[in-house]
Amino acid sequence: MIEVTNLNKVYDNGFEALKSVSFNIDKGDLVCLLGPSGCGKSTILNMIAGLLQPTNGDIAFDGKSIVHTEPKDRNIGFVFQNYSLYPHMTVLQNVMFPLSVGNHKVDKKVALATAEKYMKLTKISDIRDKRPGQLSGGQQQRVAITRALVQNPQVLLLDEPLSNLDARLRLSIREEIRRLVKEVGITTIFVTHDQEEALSISDKIILLNDGVVQQDDDPQKLYLEPNNLFVAQFIGNPVINLLPVRISEGKIQSDFFAVPLTEFKQERFKAPLEDGTYVLGIRPEDMMPNAANPLFESVLIDGEAIGRERVLKFDLGEHHFKAIMKIEEHVTKGLPMNFNFKKEKAFIFEESGERVY
Ligand code: ATP
Repeated sequence: MIEVTNLNKVYDNGFEALKSVSFNIDKGDLVCLLGPSGCGKSTILNMIAGLLQPTNGDIAFDGKSIVHTEPKDRNIGFVFQNYSLYPHMTVLQNVMFPLSVGNHKVDKKVALATAEKYMKLTKISDIRDKRPGQLSGGQQQRVAITRALVQNPQVLLLDEPLSNLDARLRLSIREEIRRLVKEVGITTIFVTHDQEEALSISDKIILLNDGVVQQDDDPQKLYLEPNNLFVAQFIGNPVINLLPVRISEGKIQSDFFAVPLTEFKQERFKAPLEDGTYVLGIRPEDMMPNAANPLFESVLIDGEAIGRERVLKFDLGEHHFKAIMKIEEHVTKGLPMNFNFKKEKAFIFEESGERVY
């Protein structure tokens, strides 16, 4: 439904915010644009909405280019980070507003019926006479989404819609947003820098860094098969453990251990590895503390209980490592512990960052 091809944006000051960005979005999908601050997420969203012109490249809806279409004719619902509700209007007036102006103007009775239908769907009927200043952040957000939906847009754009809400509310509202957009069946692009949020609600994630798409995949693939070191570090919490290693004599060697390459899962090697320098990546959940067949030993720095898990911290030389274990298992800070790791789940990256295993 949405096709973005070789999109490029150079701002007036010469800064290249997007470098040949391409991706497709299927009809009815909820897709997250994910990436650190400044990676170009809002730039893409604003170009889809028509608030910014691309320097090069194309954006098409259903096979038709829209880059020269006026924003008001693109049939897009946009929910801004600060919701942009009209403070002097009631909830109902806010929701009905798009149906009283421009392309979407309809008879007042029809507008009221449409507003009521969507307010029921987003569960804000009971606050219809309140003004934005009297609402909680979550309620304001629901009003903003309802106002975007009443125009029956082709595409819904949400720019960091949860960033003004507290952590608990974020959890429940993100599930609500997913339920809602699936119920309406609207193609939705959701911008966030929060990987957990993206992983939990998306059909697909487009992960960006420095204006370049790093991976465009379903959430599970980003976690299990990251394209490169950036993706592996951005996805996952606690963050992946990394260790510079050498490959020689058929072994992965570091200052702390050596593992024959035959212990790794052969079908996961993208190509036979040449001898040289690489980076080994092991997710904390794939470490094996107190392993029956230990590979190395390190002194436990911390064993903090976080939720239902215990997060162990230790160092390998100058490299900080984390491992996860069950909360029921007790550990003693300051004492040496044995570790191994799941070779079938680990990653090996070239120095350039490309994943080769
Ligand atoms: P955030 O999560 O912080 O909102 P983002 O991923 O949405 O970030 P953008 O707002 O798209 O990032 O900005 C991408 C890059 O372009 C940033 O480095 C930003 O400083 C730069 N940029 C944005 N707007 C302009 C502008 N008008 N002129 C020059 N540079 C800009």
